Amino acid sequence: MTGAQELIRARDVEKRFGDLTVLDGINLGVREGEVLSLLGPSGSGKSTFLRCVNMLEQIDSGEIRYQGELLGFRKHNDRYYPLSEKQRARQRINFGMVFQHFNLFSHMTALENICEGLTVVLRQSRAEARERGRYLLDRVGLAEHADKYPSMLSGGQQQRVAIARALAPNPSVMLFDEPTSALDPELVGEVLDVIRELVESGMTMIIVTHEMNFAREVSDSVAILDGGRIVEFGAPESVLTQPSSARAKAFVNAMK
Ligand code: ADP
Ligand code: MG
Repeated sequence: MTGAQELIRARDVEKRFGDLTVLDGINLGVREGEVLSLLGPSGSGKSTFLRCVNMLEQIDSGEIRYQGELLGFRKHNDRYYPLSEKQRARQRINFGMVFQHFNLFSHMTALENICEGLTVVLRQSRAEARERGRYLLDRVGLAEHADKYPSMLSGGQQQRVAIARALAPNPSVMLFDEPTSALDPELVGEVLDVIRELVESGMTMIIVTHEMNFAREVSDSVAILDGGRIVEFGAPESVLTQPSSARAKAFVNAMK
């Protein structure tokens, strides 16, 4: 992937909640077609980082850029001014996000869940949205379940619908926040299979996961966070088998 364009660049990103510094100077980049996995103990800031990329949270200092464009802010005379929610929503179109808890609308079918954003936000026609929705349901192996409500689907199927929904607006980058952590063990594989296919299709991704073997298999690079800092960064083999920092060693050993 060397030579590919950098899609995301985070520089000195800091995020505080009150007195608590949750992100304490994050620097990293993701090139087009690359998969970056974020690992680290609970509370280390992984979700917050994804939420900052997606502008669900506003950073306190530093900057995050998408294709060189500042996200969430406009810069003038070296000062940053937050963008309006409408402007952030326009930038957010570039990102598809999948959460641990699938957050599907329970009163809508699988297909309607996928179409909702396309018709309401992107103003697509109902027919166009349904065609896209059916294509995506087929892609995640759920073509036969289009008209089922979330309660009629397994957790793994619901998460696959959530992935299809996130893909619907054709984002350039997918952000996964522990997509399999809420699933029964026997359902994890089907969701990882869908993500693996996305990786093979060349999708750029940031994945927060505790699935070490999966991270090793699909990632171009792995970052281990601890206390809001990156304590280890590099190729999956070196980070997950021979971490150099004491913090990363402790984390990797605890995951074995
Ligand atoms: P991780 O995803 O690595 O488990 P999080 O990013 O969820 O970590 O959280 C990092 C820290 O930020 C935790 O201490 C958490 O309690 C705190 N935190 C996250 N969101 C909020 C919030 N909205 N308000 C206050 N503290 C928060
Ligand atoms: Mg989290």
